[in-house]
Parts: sequence; C-alpha cells; structure tokens
Amino acid sequence: MADALQVTQVRAGYGAINVLWDVSLAAAPGELTAIIGPNGAGKTTLLRAIMGLLPLNGGSVTLGAQRLDRVPVWQLAQMGVALIPEGRMLFDGMTVEDNLLIGAFPSAQRAYAARRLEAAYAMFPKLRERRRQLAGSLSGGEAQMLVLARGLMADPKVLLVDEPSLGLAPVVVDELFGVLARLRQEGLTIVLVEQHTERAVAIADHVHLMQSGKVVLSQRAKDVRLPELHEQYFGLA
Ligand code: ATP
Repeated sequence: MADALQVTQVRAGYGAINVLWDVSLAAAPGELTAIIGPNGAGKTTLLRAIMGLLPLNGGSVTLGAQRLDRVPVWQLAQMGVALIPEGRMLFDGMTVEDNLLIGAFPSAQRAYAARRLEAAYAMFPKLRERRRQLAGSLSGGEAQMLVLARGLMADPKVLLVDEPSLGLAPVVVDELFGVLARLRQEGLTIVLVEQHTERAVAIADHVHLMQSGKVVLSQRAKDVRLPELHEQYFGLA
C-alpha cells in the first residue's frame, strides 16, 4: 500500500507575506484529491510548499512516515513526488523526446530512461508521433500532455498537478482529465489544483476548498453539492 500525503498546520508565504494559514489536509494513497477555490486562495502556494519550493513557517508535510519538509527538492523527486507546474515550462527549442528525457532524472541510466519513454509514448501516442518535433511547435493541449508526460518520466508515486486545464479548449480538457483518471486507476496519488470546480469534483475522490489561505471545506467528492458551494464560496447563485 502506498503512503498518504499529509499536510499538517502548514504556514508558508513569500518573504514577510504569509499566504497559508495552518493548512491541514490529507491525500489518500491511490486517490485523486482536488484543491479548489477562488483566485488567490493559495492553491499554487500550497503545492509549492508541499514540493519544498517554499520554506515552511510552521507545520509539516509527510509521506507515510517520512518528513518531506526537511529534505531538499531533488531528494523529494527521488522519494517519488513530482510537481507539474502551472504554465507548462517546456524547453521550446528542444524536441518532444529531449524534453521527456530531461524528466527521467535522477535515474539517468539508459535502459531505465528507454523503458520510461516507452511508457510515456504508450500513454500519450500523439507525443510518439511528434517526438522529433520541437516542443515549441506543439498545440496548447499537446504541450500540456508533454509536461504531464515529463513529470511521469521519473515514475512518481505522488503527482502534484497545478491548473493543467488553463487556456485549453474543453475537448482538450476532457482528454487531459481522461489521462488523470487513468493515472489514478493505475494507483498514482494525485493532488490536483483546478479552477474548473465542476470538472475537478467530477474526477476527484476528495475535495478541499481553499479560501484566503485556509482550507474551509473538506468533503468526499460524492458529498459535494455544487450549487451550495458556488453560492457560499464563489459568490455565485
Ligand atoms: P490562482 O488560481 O490565481 O493562481 P491560487 O489559489 O493558486 O490562485 P496563489 O497563486 O497561491 O493562489 O496566490 C496566493 C496569494 O499569494 C495571492 O495573494 C498572491 O498574490 C500571493 N503570491 C503568489 N505568488 C507570490 C510571490 N511570488 N510573491 C508574493 N506574493 C505572491
């Protein structure tokens, strides 16, 4: 059984500005945990804090019995945690395949990288077709698939995904969410930050709603009542 990711009483921010106020939540192994909430609620900041990209001013992050907030980011990657950042961040002047091979770090052995590459192409057949193309020539949807595939190259146990649907057409978002659902079925623990509340709730096992740097609601996805959620937290009737 894989380990649960546990965030406990986390405080973090940028310099003197504190953003997260005692955030606690758990992501159960093999489940998809969605983090929703309005702009500026602190969702991206939370993923950065989990990934060790921001120092904590309080609290802890654990994966099973291991403290994640006390190890450097590269070690976190080795422990099986991967962050798929918002905004793609591909190497546009490199081919699709070279972008993928960068993600095979830290296990750079050739045979391992080749196996992971094959797994990536099996999951994303379009990337195989385009493997010699420059990443900068991909469509938005293909680029997002490539970012996801790159994150999977190191064979993570926990995937932190930040706003993958940003700027994508609905049909492409469908495809992307299909991939996330498949990864979840394969046993990956996924933490998904998403602006599309309905879509996030539809795909998730568990939902945490953030507002002003705090978790204000945690529910099983099947118990979420979307109209009430919108009215109460997003200011929409
Ligand atoms: P969005 O969907 O708009 O990205 P979010 O819920 O992910 O929203 P964050 O990006 O985590 O929110 O931002 C939370 C707060 O932290 C905001 O008030 C934002 O202005 C602030 N913030 C984000 N990045 C920085 C930074 N680099 N320096 C200072 N403040 C920041």
